[in-house]
Amino acid sequence: MNLEGKTALVTGSTSGIGLAIAKALARQGANIVLNGLGDIDAAQRELLASGARAMRHEADMRDPAQIEDLMKFCASSFGRVDVLVNNAGIQHVANVEAFPVQRWDEIIAVNLSSAFHTTRLALPAMRAANWGRVINVASTHGLVASAQKSAYVAAKHGIVGLTKAVALETATTGITCNAICPGATLTPLAQKQIDDRARLDSASVDETRVRMVGEKQPSLDFVTVEQLAELAVFMCSPSADQVRGAAWAMDGGWTAQ
Ligand code: NAD
Repeated sequence: MNLEGKTALVTGSTSGIGLAIAKALARQGANIVLNGLGDIDAAQRELLASGARAMRHEADMRDPAQIEDLMKFCASSFGRVDVLVNNAGIQHVANVEAFPVQRWDEIIAVNLSSAFHTTRLALPAMRAANWGRVINVASTHGLVASAQKSAYVAAKHGIVGLTKAVALETATTGITCNAICPGATLTPLAQKQIDDRARLDSASVDETRVRMVGEKQPSLDFVTVEQLAELAVFMCSPSADQVRGAAWAMDGGWTAQ
């Protein structure tokens, strides 16, 4: 247990990758602040049942004022945020000329700007403690593009850039900032894309799942949320003290092509 006495805020932790990271950090002894628009009751119950100290705050990550409330809540509940995991994310698929302007703004707000706000608000206390971990859940789409995902690709490339800038600004301190770039991972977000595509192609969901992962991922297999969570745990460990500004792909070979 290397995070005893430390506090982790995981945005978008009501399901999928964020919930798995919250559970893994809790197993390392961290206090957890959950956030998200999904079933936050169930997520908090699960963590509390495992013996974790878990609070929750339902800030909408589109709104900087609610993000400020969230950060104040973390400070008043546990003192400060030691591990910040910027994970909340949304997706919309459309050609750029047909992309709804409001969806573009929302994707940039949730997938990119929210990480700027949480990071700028978390860093002063991390600097005072001379220790901190900022982990940005980016995507293979932070490294390469796919058609019809312009806002997502722009936001994810943006968060990889933010990761590098923050890593440089904190390079001589005990604070590290890194990105995790998952490939296709079977979560509610990915399942929705599979369901949409199956409907479009009039194909079965099972057939579509295998075809979709195979299109991009040479391993022909999904990444699991548990594998991603263990990478986040490693990034919090002393062994990762000199991992700074990395965009660490865990993608079954997607970006090796
Ligand atoms: P998910 O839908 O299970 O989780 C997304 C989380 O973000 C949920 O908790 C949701 O409530 C939260 N969220 C969405 N909008 C929000 C808002 N306005 N305010 C606060 N919370 C909000 O999906 P996931 O696959 O676990 O995605 C988590 C992260 O991983 C995202 O950033 C996503 O882009 C990234 N990612 C996922 C995959 C994949 O294949 N699933 C691949 C690469 C990257």
